[in-house]
Amino acid sequence: MSNENKTIFDFDFSLIYEYFASLERQGPGSPEATIKALSFIDNLTDQSQIADLGCGTGGQTMVLGQHAPGHITGLELSYDFVDIFNRNAAQLGLQDKVKGITGSMDDLPFEKESLDLIWSEGAIYNIGFERGLTEWREYLRKDGYVAVTEATWFTEERPAEINDFWMFHYPLIDTIPACVAKMQKAGYIPVATFILPENCWIEHYFVPAVKAQEKILAKYPGNKGVEEFIEAQRHEAALYSKYKEFYGYVFYIGKKI
Ligand code: SAH
Repeated sequence: MSNENKTIFDFDFSLIYEYFASLERQGPGSPEATIKALSFIDNLTDQSQIADLGCGTGGQTMVLGQHAPGHITGLELSYDFVDIFNRNAAQLGLQDKVKGITGSMDDLPFEKESLDLIWSEGAIYNIGFERGLTEWREYLRKDGYVAVTEATWFTEERPAEINDFWMFHYPLIDTIPACVAKMQKAGYIPVATFILPENCWIEHYFVPAVKAQEKILAKYPGNKGVEEFIEAQRHEAALYSKYKEFYGYVFYIGKKI
């Protein structure tokens, strides 16, 4: 199997978590994009209950904590990420407002109709956009909002190399109008969509990743698994710079009907 055709699941998980834990963000995004998405959401108050699903170490959750009223629960599968998340919250003095817990986005530990806002950046792909939106809706109050980012095609057609890459790694990737239609079908009014600017990928994700890659390669010299994993990360970054006019991450904001 060539590295190109390895999914993230073919690599050693503890190593992957060690690598991603050293990054401020585990996917493309930026504080500006988080704040912009937040600007479409009405009616939040100090009593609002917000959940950030697949929050990672909390890059975007801390921004939410600083800009949104209410209480925020970050939900994350990895205990190690939650640990870093809660340390980050404490460091920023947000510990009373922002809390990380372990759990899975396919089995939410919240009361039905208890949340005012469900947030999820670069993580809904773990269960799929349509399934996530449909299942999470039950946990929102009437008029509650969902705001997620999802990898999306910008065009109906694209070069075979990038098409094949995504079909292998995430065949559920779709176009913007198709995602908007899925959001509507799942029971939301699509309120806004916007494409994450290139700096969300480059400055906030690929550039910090270069240092993390060098560090982990130096820590495990000659480790084949590490080398292959890093090669796959670099391949992903190279594909982005080659094909960025064909795909990217898109923020989708919807209001529960
Ligand atoms: N939102 C963060 C992290 C994105 S990476 C950011 O934008 O930086 C995707 C995250 O989803 C990872 O932290 C991964 O551990 C987490 N994840 C994967 N499957 C999950 C699940 N079933 N439930 C909750 N979190 C999950």
